[in-house]
Amino acid sequence: MNQPEPRAPVRRHALVLNVDDYEAGRYATSRVLRQAGFEVVDAATGEEALRLVRSEEPDLVLLDVNLPDLDGFEVCRRIKTAPETGTIPVLYLSAAYRTPEHRVQGLDLGADGYLTQPVEPRELVATVNALLRAREVEEAVRASEERFRSLVAATSAIVWTASPEGLIETEQPAWTEFTGQPGDEMLGWGWLACVHPDDHERVRREWANAIAARAQFTAEYRLRRRDGEYRHVGVSAIPLLDGDGGVREWVGMHTDVTARRRAEAWQGLFADVGAALASSLETPSTLPGVAQRVVDALADWCAVDLVEAEGLRRVAQAWSGGGPRTERAAAFDAAFAVERPASAPFQVARTGQPVLVADAAPAQGEMAEALRRAGVRSYLSVALVARGQVVGVLTAAAGDGLPRYTADDAARLEELGGRVALAVDNARLYAEAIHANAAKGEFLAVMSHELRTPLNAIIGYADLLDAGVAGELNDAQREQLSRIRVGSKHLLRLIEEVLQFSRLEAGREEVHREALDLAGLTRDAAALVEPLARGKGLAFRVEVPAEPVRVETDGGKVHQIVLNLLSNAVKFTDGGEVSVSLAARNGHAVLQVRDTGIGIAPENLERIWDAFSQVEQAPTRRVGGTGLGLSVTRNLARLLGGDVVVESAPGRGSAFTLRLPMPAAG
Ligand code: ADP
Repeated sequence: MNQPEPRAPVRRHALVLNVDDYEAGRYATSRVLRQAGFEVVDAATGEEALRLVRSEEPDLVLLDVNLPDLDGFEVCRRIKTAPETGTIPVLYLSAAYRTPEHRVQGLDLGADGYLTQPVEPRELVATVNALLRAREVEEAVRASEERFRSLVAATSAIVWTASPEGLIETEQPAWTEFTGQPGDEMLGWGWLACVHPDDHERVRREWANAIAARAQFTAEYRLRRRDGEYRHVGVSAIPLLDGDGGVREWVGMHTDVTARRRAEAWQGLFADVGAALASSLETPSTLPGVAQRVVDALADWCAVDLVEAEGLRRVAQAWSGGGPRTERAAAFDAAFAVERPASAPFQVARTGQPVLVADAAPAQGEMAEALRRAGVRSYLSVALVARGQVVGVLTAAAGDGLPRYTADDAARLEELGGRVALAVDNARLYAEAIHANAAKGEFLAVMSHELRTPLNAIIGYADLLDAGVAGELNDAQREQLSRIRVGSKHLLRLIEEVLQFSRLEAGREEVHREALDLAGLTRDAAALVEPLARGKGLAFRVEVPAEPVRVETDGGKVHQIVLNLLSNAVKFTDGGEVSVSLAARNGHAVLQVRDTGIGIAPENLERIWDAFSQVEQAPTRRVGGTGLGLSVTRNLARLLGGDVVVESAPGRGSAFTLRLPMPAAG
């Protein structure tokens, strides 16, 4: 029968060690193998075979069971148990031992295949090839495993394995390396000893749940590093399943996520502190909130101290755990006391330079004891600098339970300090402004009051002269006297305006409500201004309902508002028309004064309402004024529960609208 050619070996130059004491048989087999492309080395005894296995490192051993010196099974056992040769496949080829029991015994001792003589060359070559292929696959797996192991060793990750029940059963070098916990102490659940006490229970529960559910385990917690610092670690573990869906083992990995967590904490802190500072203009009231937020994010204790005339003063402090001041908080306070020349805040206030102590443990001297009593492991103190001046100091301190501060943290705390300093500075400026404003109001009130008395005397005596009480006046004297009276009355109005302005500012202006008809009031006010308008050659229009528009308000003040608006309209209009209209709309009385005058540029629309503010314009300079009119007008309108708004465009005129609430109908 024509036999097909044996297949070529899977690996070129694969070396087979052929062990057989029966020379003719060995020769025949070696020939078959050589023809199939293998290289072959022969051995006739067990000892020789073991020697050649070591010196030649064959890819496969073909082994006769019946040898003169050693039993073939024994040769196999020795090959398989020696670490250098254990992976070499062994294939029995036996003429004598052909029973199934022999086969089982051979395979049990670690052989990879068992053939009995006589064997067909095809079958022999195919079997050798199959074993070599299997070995190649095995080697590839081993190589990739080795790569994986060296990768794991090279990363900062802590890789570990656990039993199906979630118990650590073998020593985990990466864990021991990170935590310093001896390998035998971490076995079972022993590793929990390195978990931060506050995270202990949660981690234990989550891991137990994952084991029960055979589901992926992920968690973040604080893990004690070998130097005692607690680091934030993220852990992820998955169950590796066997063929039947049972858990073969758990493989897990811890990574140090402290830097990421810190970055996140800072991000949140910046947002929170911004909100806290913005909540009030009076900084001292916002500073405790700032200190608290620093503690929440990354400290066990935080203090804000401000530079004052007498020295540094602690205006805010917060500590972890909150609640009433703990003994530990007091110890922190003492270690960082503002009056203690060796303390960080004192130093920082003096030099303006930040202080960063990443690890206070090795510290010596006076401070060391105070720091140790407060359990401070790491601290940071930065100057609050505004407009080039140190206005205070911000200090954060952490014990063993928190990651230590780095240069990165120092830079961020300085940035945060910059914001706090700006707020402190703004608050001081604001307080000064309030104070100055109150002083100005006071001055105006006193001043106007004092001016009014002599002015009233001037007006009074002018009236007497005019009445001819002291003798008849000639025409020229009468004319000059009338100018004195006009000037004096104008001055009196200005003084009244200033007085009223100070009363409004101080909240002392009183409202006298009465039922009145706004239509009649508007007509009266218009009648006063109309001659001025006509005198300037302007058209003057009054559009007021014939029937009464009833409101309940302070008539004197409304009269003053309407007069102010109408006189401004005439003052700032040189041609065209001035008009006033009144209507009742949506429960409001709406009074509008329009003109076709010079108008107001958009950039000035807000400014005109400010006290003492005038837009630099020819009519203003010509006619004069205090720049108080519109400020008083708006304040009066608001005092009456209404408001005034303006619409205007340069060259197109202005429209001022007064809105006053009307009593509900019925
Ligand atoms: P005063 O009239 O005493 O200057 P006001 O407070 O009454 O002060 O007005 C402030 C400024 O608003 C005026 O100086 C003027 O520039 C502008 N203004 C007010 N009313 C008008 C108007 N009807 N048309 C154009 N500008 C006006």
